[in-house]
Amino acid sequence: MVEIKIDSEKCTGCGTCVDVCPVEVYELREGKSVAVNVDECIVCRTCEAQCPENAITIIE
Ligand code: SF4
Ligand code: SF4
Repeated sequence: MVEIKIDSEKCTGCGTCVDVCPVEVYELREGKSVAVNVDECIVCRTCEAQCPENAITIIE
């Protein structure tokens, strides 16, 4: 079971995680990223690597 932590203080709502996630885990809500489909995550870690603010942590 994977856990996705998003630091909302760091998140700028840039949308990169929404765009790069291959299984559409993220949505933007009121300017912040929210992981709405955590169960779909395949732990590719692309979002973690691509977030320009280092706001995402994937925990296995
Ligand atoms: S890539 Fe990072 S800063 Fe951009 S919306 Fe996602 S969590 Fe926020
Ligand atoms: S680790 Fe991969 S599959 Fe999981 S949320 Fe990030 S980009 Fe999506």
